[in-house]
Amino acid sequence: SEQKSLNFIEQIINEDLKNGLSNDKLRFRFPPEPNGYLHIGHASSICLNFGLGLDYKAPVNLRFDDTNPAKEEQEFVDAIKRDVEWLGYQWDKECYASDYFQQLYDWTIQIIKNGKAYVDSQSSEDMAKQKGTPTQFGTDSPYRNRSVEENLDLFERMKNGEFPEGTHVLRAKISMNATNMLMRDPIIYRILHKNHHRTGNKWCIYPMYDWAHGESDYIEQVSHSFCTLEFLPHRELYDWFLNQIYDESKVRPKQREFARRNLSHTVVSKRKLAQLVNEGHVKGWDDPRMSTISGMRRRGYTAAAIRNFANAIGIAKRDNLIDVSLLEFYVREDLNKIAPRVMAVLNPVKLVITNYPDDKEEWLEAENNPEEEVLTYRKVPFSKELYIEREDFQEEAHKKFFRLTLGTEVRLKNAYIIKGESVVKDADGNITEIHCTYDEDSKSGSGTEASQRKVKGTIHWVSTNHAVEAEVRVYDRLFTHENPDGDKEVDFKEFINPNSLEIITGYVEPSLVNAKELEHYQFQRLGYFCVDRDSSAEKLVFNKTVGLRDTWAK
Ligand code: ATP
Ligand code: MG
Ligand code: MG
Repeated sequence: SEQKSLNFIEQIINEDLKNGLSNDKLRFRFPPEPNGYLHIGHASSICLNFGLGLDYKAPVNLRFDDTNPAKEEQEFVDAIKRDVEWLGYQWDKECYASDYFQQLYDWTIQIIKNGKAYVDSQSSEDMAKQKGTPTQFGTDSPYRNRSVEENLDLFERMKNGEFPEGTHVLRAKISMNATNMLMRDPIIYRILHKNHHRTGNKWCIYPMYDWAHGESDYIEQVSHSFCTLEFLPHRELYDWFLNQIYDESKVRPKQREFARRNLSHTVVSKRKLAQLVNEGHVKGWDDPRMSTISGMRRRGYTAAAIRNFANAIGIAKRDNLIDVSLLEFYVREDLNKIAPRVMAVLNPVKLVITNYPDDKEEWLEAENNPEEEVLTYRKVPFSKELYIEREDFQEEAHKKFFRLTLGTEVRLKNAYIIKGESVVKDADGNITEIHCTYDEDSKSGSGTEASQRKVKGTIHWVSTNHAVEAEVRVYDRLFTHENPDGDKEVDFKEFINPNSLEIITGYVEPSLVNAKELEHYQFQRLGYFCVDRDSSAEKLVFNKTVGLRDTWAK
């Protein structure tokens, strides 16, 4: 059997276990901020944390990092829960940083009493000027040496809502000379007179990320707090804050970092995805062109495909761009196994079988999916008039054209061998009908000698009288550039593909008339398609998930 080599995160955990951390003390968390929908980058973090939970039989919390009331909403909380569940993971506890506001406040009082925090009453511009640079020390705030009593009084009045936003902040008293800029007396609390989606108007001071995150990990007794690389310089502050409150009998959480995952031809940043939604470049967070998990689900990507993709790319120590065609490979791989095959014609031209009886109809047997362990079949109606794809016919064709031409034979999938005879054209010379003859003895699966005859190719079709009209939404990349986010000088929206959506009317076989939202199908020879949530019994709507082959690679 294959021995999976350990990634650097697993090595860190195993090292801690070897050094005495007991296995039942392991706990992980996935900590989204509910300020947008989850995207494919988050899927990496979800698969990492919940995957570790499964591997080490350890609980994983879903923690909402909801400390910024200006941007957070219940809609996003609900969407995040739906997406994590859909990906197939179960959290142990559903937690909210906002549930710890009182505890954080109480700890803060203690820190002020210990002389490790002060209220700064300068403008943010003045504080920024005093920050210094990586090569130049900062300058102490004139308020840095306020007495404990004055700090306690001002901080309480901040909490009671006596001051407008921006007039005071609480800062940690660390050092204005620290090499790590984040350690130069970072802000712990700011005043925000904003309604919070969970705590309402109870609070008008809100903790900063660095103060809330490690302490939330500590309260929940998370053993390993994995985050993306941009938090590496925050680790020192994470540890400084823990040092102020840490009780040795408890598990001390450990922050470790891994590289962000970026996907080509899209953006993975909630802020940028929000711009696409709010400025109307797409139709919503779950638009099938979006890199969101909900968009990918609606497009027809499966949870298994996304998990397989995330596990295949694994985790890294350096940021890099993963080609979206790798994700599409895993989508095809999964859909090939699970998607029933059906016939649909998306660019129809009429085919008339001149020697087939006028009023006859046959229900022919068609295999649902050759990948099934036990094969199943359905019936598809056949008649004198069919639709076939316009591209499947050429009047005069090259030798290499393995489809229908005049005077040559092809097989109609699940049906008969036909031979092209003539065409009907309109005044502009466009073909409106193709006339052919069929060989009555050549029916698929009949076992006759005629049915076993080799022909140039097989094409799909639907019977015109039985076909069901459907709207089909065909997508192209949302961005024309491989890395729309890669050039800091150019706005990513410059690279939006103006032709990323094409809406066409096609015809599908009648077995699809009751197709339900999110069902996956392979339209034979065309690609994988998924029923959209706009679909109804009156009007079927499909999204093209992905073609059968990687056509962008060429
Ligand atoms: P965004 O910039 O899209 O808002 P974020 O990191 O601010 O991303 P959070 O809601 O804070 O979003 O993310 C929750 C978790 O998911 C964090 O631990 C974060 O590091 C991780 N994460 C976010 N984006 C990616 C990514 N592209 N690749 C891997 N992990 C990610
Ligand atoms: Mg964040
Ligand atoms: Mg963010």
